[in-house]
Amino acid sequence: MDILSHLTIPSPVTLLKTPWTEAAGIELYLKRDDLIHPIISGNKWRKLSGIFDHYAKSDYDSITTFGGAYSNHLVATAASCAILQVPCTGIVRGEEPKNENSVLKICRLYGMELEYVSREAYKESNRTEGVIQRVLYIAEGGAGKLGTIGCHDILRETDTSSIDKIFVACGTGTTISGLATYAREFALTSEVCGVQVLKGDGYIAADLEQEYGVEGVTVYDEYHCGGYAKTNEELIQFIKKFTRETGVLLDPIYTGKMMLAIHKLCLNGSIKKGERIMAVHTGGLTGWFGKSAELNV
Ligand SMILES: *Cc1c(COP(=O)(O)O)cnc(C)c1O
Repeated sequence: MDILSHLTIPSPVTLLKTPWTEAAGIELYLKRDDLIHPIISGNKWRKLSGIFDHYAKSDYDSITTFGGAYSNHLVATAASCAILQVPCTGIVRGEEPKNENSVLKICRLYGMELEYVSREAYKESNRTEGVIQRVLYIAEGGAGKLGTIGCHDILRETDTSSIDKIFVACGTGTTISGLATYAREFALTSEVCGVQVLKGDGYIAADLEQEYGVEGVTVYDEYHCGGYAKTNEELIQFIKKFTRETGVLLDPIYTGKMMLAIHKLCLNGSIKKGERIMAVHTGGLTGWFGKSAELNV
């Protein structure tokens, strides 16, 4: 795919040191999918790669996809479609605002057509999957089986032979299901661990089993900090400190919660001295252009 010359793939792996990783005696590696592209958020590219492969092999004319007003997936799709010259439409949840936020402005800059639909109508239409009049419909967040395929590359391009635990933030669970499927296929010894960023007891773990037939994955559901796109003072202070200490910016919606969970799991002894952890930085930094612009950091 000629889009690869626009992307940094394979993404590098960085060994990070902070006072808390030193105190815990762990090695913390970060798989830098945030460096894949400034706007095409890390795991959103991983999900789109399989989707675009499928698009190229079939007889489609355009892509239509779905997202909220601050969606990393919408903006990633808009940028990828501009590079590949694929016409695309974004169906945005909610009424059209007087002033579009910067995430949606960037979608338009890349040439995505935006259509606003009421929350009720959105729920119905996001169920649309497959092909209608040669339009490929992709669910919110790039979720679904096609989206898992490219997530294999996160592990395929990385030597994980000495890694004890691999961590990733989970929204729809598509990325972790790709990681877990690959880990099983290639009999990797690392444990795959997810941090749920939405409220809801064990819903990712249940989805993984039911939708993807994936087992043996650990999903932590207690580190959502109040729910999807919610933050609390502890999370913001943690991100602030981490960013200053490492020079790596985390986003407040996904990767910040994942890293805070890793920190807390060190403190409560679930991650033990001497363990080697690889966390996936799934990107999401455009999150700071959206609602988080209001946060007091
Ligand atoms: C969308 C997103 C996720 C969640 O990925 P899923 O495949 O939906 O679980 C994680 N991190 C970032 C930065 C994201 O933008």
